[in-house]
Amino acid sequence: MDQSSEKQRLEDLKHYALLDSAPEESFDRITRIAKKVFGVPIALISLVDENRQWFKSRQGLETCETPRDISFCTHAIEKNQPLIVHDASEDPRFRDSPLVTGDPNIRFYAGIPLRSPKGFNLGTLCVMDQQPRIASLEHIEILRDLARLVVDEIELRALAAFDCLTGMHRRTKFMEVAETELQRATRYGSNFSILIFDIDHFKTINDTHGHAAGDLVLQKVAEICKANLRSVDIASRFGGDEFVVLLPETNLSDARVIAERLRHQFETCQIEEGGHIMQFTTSFGLADHANSDLKTINAILNEADDYLYEAKTNGRNKVLTSTA
Ligand code: GH3
Ligand code: MG
Repeated sequence: MDQSSEKQRLEDLKHYALLDSAPEESFDRITRIAKKVFGVPIALISLVDENRQWFKSRQGLETCETPRDISFCTHAIEKNQPLIVHDASEDPRFRDSPLVTGDPNIRFYAGIPLRSPKGFNLGTLCVMDQQPRIASLEHIEILRDLARLVVDEIELRALAAFDCLTGMHRRTKFMEVAETELQRATRYGSNFSILIFDIDHFKTINDTHGHAAGDLVLQKVAEICKANLRSVDIASRFGGDEFVVLLPETNLSDARVIAERLRHQFETCQIEEGGHIMQFTTSFGLADHANSDLKTINAILNEADDYLYEAKTNGRNKVLTSTA
């Protein structure tokens, strides 16, 4: 795979936010079935990250990841078909791999690439044995169907987590990720900020140009956020025309600079639709965690929301926050 498509593949994988997530029964159920059907000791859902393969589900293996360069799955994702290795000790690609020469002493491997709707192979559903084996066509077909179920599960999670129109986190997913950030900030005594913004007079945009044009504005907001925020920032469409961004490791004065930059980008962008140029403005409210053990995510959101309300009642198209 060339470098740019590998980069896109990794982006697609990261977008699903599965790496290092907790085990889940719906994935474990699939590896249990695969293990039983093949009658093998090991079945895995492996996701191939930049330098490692990480297991979303594992049966019969203690470790939760192995280096990518020794993994079978990294070979399996290079093709869009099953990779079957009957006896790895006789296969020049794998016979020197530490997974073959030492623990867990793999001989048989069957892996099906997990192909995302965008066409990237994120990892594999695979089974392994310490004995050489011949895999029947029927078994491979079952493994292929199970791999499709894995991809369906992954996709269902993405639909629940991300807003279809903008691709941004939905509110529930945002709250989940924000809680993790809160715990991290509390542990390390670091700060983070939250900004809330809402499109000004969005109803008028819809009424004047139509709902489809309104949707274009929402998508433009997402595009500008993506271009102006860091990959660690968590951007969310909270509902309707309201957006929330969590900026890790960012104090209030830096957050204000970022919010002003976004506000300016929104104000100056021009969207062409049906021969008309549409423009829009936004109002912002900001608050930070301020290293306070007492502040919950909801408390920070409420504080930011109060400033947003103030911005709305004081002329709109502004960024407001505490001046202390
Ligand atoms: P304000 O400046 O006070 O925010 O005024 P506003 O007109 O933007 O008022 P408000 O935020 O209450 O209006 C939100 C509007 O967003 C109402 C709703 O019809 C519209 N809306 C919500 N979801 C969508 C959507 O997915 N697409 C489009 N086009 N419009 C949406
Ligand atoms: Mg609005």
